[in-house]
Amino acid sequence: MQNKVIYPGTFDPITYGHVSIIERAARLFDHVVVAIAANTHKKTTLFSVDERVTMARDVLKHLSNVSVCNFQGLLLDFVKNQQSRIILRGLRAVADFEFELQLASMHQQLASEIETIFLMPSVQYAHVSSTLIREMASLGSDVSMFVPEAVSKALLKHFSRKKA
Ligand code: ADP
Repeated sequence: MQNKVIYPGTFDPITYGHVSIIERAARLFDHVVVAIAANTHKKTTLFSVDERVTMARDVLKHLSNVSVCNFQGLLLDFVKNQQSRIILRGLRAVADFEFELQLASMHQQLASEIETIFLMPSVQYAHVSSTLIREMASLGSDVSMFVPEAVSKALLKHFSRKKA
């Protein structure tokens, strides 16, 4: 049986923190599916789901065992449809732990055959969050240290269009 792991999230936008997690997972598993949520607990997103998928595909094209797709509805259904049994999440700091513990515990109770595993990013990206990136970029800050070039360009375009 091939080991396929599902890495779900909003990826609004994808950052070097996410990429660091995905590169690690690509070394550990046969296949990594980056699953970009169309509907999310975050009420609105800066980028549409299609834009988020396109950016992620572009940024991850060097990883041959990684694919990117969007998903709607329940994550557990998506994981089962993909014939996977592993959900991957990233842990930055203690702040992530509470929410991730709740989510993993609920998933464990709902589908005990599916495991959630956690990876940490490279230390230099342990503080990077899409929320902060969006906020800093909206104020005109250079975020190219924290996100791939395609993403910083998309952010620049988005916010300069808004200003015009
Ligand atoms: P969600 O909307 O589900 O929180 P995100 O797109 O924000 O999704 O993140 C997806 C996953 O990646 C989550 O597990 C999140 O904790 C993790 N993550 C986000 N940024 C980083 C980072 N810099 N380092 C490690 N994990 C991260």
